[in-house]
Amino acid sequence: MRRAVAVTLLAVLAMPAAALAHASPRSGGARYSKPEVKTLKCGTGEQTSCPRGYVLRLSGENLAQTRTVIFLGARGSRDDRRARPEAASPHRVLVTVPASARSGRLRVLAADSAAAGPRLRVLPPAVAPPATAPVAALPGVFPVQGAHDYGSEINRFGGPRRHQGQDVLAACGTPLVAALAGQVTLTRFHARAGNYVVIKADDGTSQAYMHLLAPAAVEQGQRVSAGQPLGQVGQTGAASACHLHFELWTAPGWHEGGEPVDPLALLQAWDTPR
Ligand SMILES: [Zn+2]
Repeated sequence: MRRAVAVTLLAVLAMPAAALAHASPRSGGARYSKPEVKTLKCGTGEQTSCPRGYVLRLSGENLAQTRTVIFLGARGSRDDRRARPEAASPHRVLVTVPASARSGRLRVLAADSAAAGPRLRVLPPAVAPPATAPVAALPGVFPVQGAHDYGSEINRFGGPRRHQGQDVLAACGTPLVAALAGQVTLTRFHARAGNYVVIKADDGTSQAYMHLLAPAAVEQGQRVSAGQPLGQVGQTGAASACHLHFELWTAPGWHEGGEPVDPLALLQAWDTPR
C-alpha cells in the first residue's frame, strides 16, 4: 500500500504545469476560484476514516492553490491541527493525517480563500495490513518445488468447513521451500496439522506449512530466506493425500491475533511454469 501511495504522489508531482494552467491569474484584483472539497479517500481505501500518519486524498475543484489543510477536530481551535499538502493539483490534494489530529471536519486554506471539507473520522495509527494479500507487493517463491495442482473446491480457502488455507497437492517427498523470508516461530507436530512450521515475515504476517513428511529442516527462532528448504511434502496428521496445506495470516500473525486470508492469488502469482 505504501508503494501505491508513493506512485500516486509522483503522478501528482509530475504535473505542476497542468496545475498552474488551471489556476486563475491573480490580476486586477480577480480572486482565485473558491476551492471545493467533495470527497475524501484514505490510503487504506476508506472514504470517511483514516489512521494518523496515512495519506488522505481530498478530491474536488480548484484545489491547486491549497496551502494548508486544517483538521478541525472538536469545537474550538485547541485541537486544530494544520498540515501542508504533500501535493496539490486542480482536482486533488494529498495530505498526511497529523499525528495528533482528532475526528472532525476539514478546512482547506487556498491562496486567498478557504473552504470547509467533509468530516473525517481519525483513527489510531494502523498496525495491521489490509485483509487481502497485496499480491504484487510480496516477492516470494512458490513453496512446492515440483509437479502440483490446487485440487478442487474442498482444497480452497473458506467454505463450509472453514478451511483456513489452500492445499497444494503434490507427491510425497516433493521439496518444500519457504515462500517468504522471515523468522521461524514454530516447528511442531499436531494430530491434525502433522509436522508443521510457521514463519513470520518481516511485515508481521505469517505463513504456515502443514503435513510435512518429517519434522521441518529448520529450527524455531531461525531466520530463513525465501526459497530456503523446509522439508518435503507429506501427509502427516489428518491428511488423506500427499499435499501442502498453506496458510497466510495477517499481522500480528498465526494465532497471535492475526486472521487467515485466502492465499490462492499469491500462490498463483509465485507459481511460474517450469
Ligand atoms: Zn488443507
